[in-house]
Amino acid sequence: MDWTPEAKRAIEKVPPFVRKMAAKAVEAYAKDKGMGTVTLEIVQQAKEKMMGRFSRNEDSATDSLSGFNVGMNRRQTMHLTDHRSFLANETDDPLHEAFDRKLAVHAMPRNKTLPPEHLHRYWAEVMSEEHVGQPMRTIYIHIPFCRSHCLFCGFYQNAYQPRKARQYVDALLEEMAGTAQEPFAKRAPFQAVYFGGGTPTALSASDIYRLVDGVKTFFPLANDCELTLEGRFHDFGEDKIEAALTAGVNRFSLGVQTFDTVVRKSLGRREPEEKLIHMLTHLRDQGAAAIIIDLIYGLPGQTMDIWEKDLKTYLDLEIDGCDLYQLNIFAGGPLESAVRNQTLPRPATLREQADFYQCGVDRLSAAHQRQLSITHWARNTRERSLYNALSRGRSECITLGAGAGGWLGKHMFFLEGDLNAYIQRVQTGKKPLVMGYGGDQHHLLLRDIACQIELGYCDMKSLSARHGMDLFAMTGHVVDQWKKVGLIRMDDGVLHLTRAGAFWAVNLSQILIDLVQMQNANAGLT
Ligand code: SF4
Repeated sequence: MDWTPEAKRAIEKVPPFVRKMAAKAVEAYAKDKGMGTVTLEIVQQAKEKMMGRFSRNEDSATDSLSGFNVGMNRRQTMHLTDHRSFLANETDDPLHEAFDRKLAVHAMPRNKTLPPEHLHRYWAEVMSEEHVGQPMRTIYIHIPFCRSHCLFCGFYQNAYQPRKARQYVDALLEEMAGTAQEPFAKRAPFQAVYFGGGTPTALSASDIYRLVDGVKTFFPLANDCELTLEGRFHDFGEDKIEAALTAGVNRFSLGVQTFDTVVRKSLGRREPEEKLIHMLTHLRDQGAAAIIIDLIYGLPGQTMDIWEKDLKTYLDLEIDGCDLYQLNIFAGGPLESAVRNQTLPRPATLREQADFYQCGVDRLSAAHQRQLSITHWARNTRERSLYNALSRGRSECITLGAGAGGWLGKHMFFLEGDLNAYIQRVQTGKKPLVMGYGGDQHHLLLRDIACQIELGYCDMKSLSARHGMDLFAMTGHVVDQWKKVGLIRMDDGVLHLTRAGAFWAVNLSQILIDLVQMQNANAGLT
């Protein structure tokens, strides 16, 4: 479909990792309206429709997605200016009823977009000798290829093509070498490196080896650096496992989602349960790296019995850890269409997801698994989930690869997401920055809040002292109501999430962040 230049400019403001999906949603909207060209007006209307459809005030009872967990990559509180909107529903059943919906996929502050013409200047500042930064440092490397598009996923970018992938890895190594020369990169060791995507295991064995070896050669890594390779089971054979381990990977994070073969196939996952169990057993028995899997609850066709079996299979495997994620139906994604058109069994509603969550926590706690965060669990102390913990808190992240994004200093930088444009820009020798957000002057406080809530608490007393702000005065009226409803308990100035609070953690986190930002804005402090 054709796009006018104004419409193109508008869509380019969407962060690279979700831009493709947003563009598809806009085109679907335009087609629906009988338009052959996407104009700026269409982009704005589609955006309003997407944001409005899921807004808190709209009566969406007639919407076919009503009651489901619709994942928006932007927070749903942008339009709220009255703190009373942040109160929970008054209910005796906070697990199921405290809020009408999840407010975001990840809690995030309201950030200002950095002027594109100054991006390289900001980047040069954080990469200079002068920028000391936080002691905890990570590297995120993005692999924007997948062998196929899983129906539930909002992060698909490009189909895997061997030649293109090799060209991409060449460019990525060039970007790595250039970035590693910067004074900030050389200053101190990195504690965690994460190869994410997309599907890093879609790459060939030699490309996996080149990349892992490259990051170890170019950057100073701590002796206990966690080196994670994310991936899936399809086309992840012995040659790739060996290449990854030989190069230095010490943690595999593999997307199972569900072991149930029928549910897997309906979502675009090809491997049957037996193959997954065989591979995980093999990796575990090798003992060469920590083995972690992702499980998702609330998938179409996944009953509570299937979920319980998924949890049992994980426990029986005795691998190192697992992450329990709730299903998000991304607006504009293929799962949304499948649910609307009823071409798949219906996924769990948000209420049902609360039951799945509760079941997961009960089963894993009973098996003495250690809860590392709201979503991450460990069977032993080998699993640290270090990158996940650091990236949410006060740490520095150097990002590499098409569509990657992360916090560095007080800014969040995103790299060019279009594959060809990325390769061309790397070849010019400049960091392929495409957009950035400027965190406000209290960005560390906001990140501390998000990180602590993810860990199940918020030490309001210490954070108030550390940041010179009275968090109790800023948020107390809302926090008191959450306590009354049963989402939290307070203990000597520390807010602890209850089981219900943990299920709604993203809302509590987003609301605390919004309250702090709103009040600082009113006081002229941002
Ligand atoms: S392989 Fe991973 S990133 Fe790619 S579409 Fe599937 S879930 Fe998404």
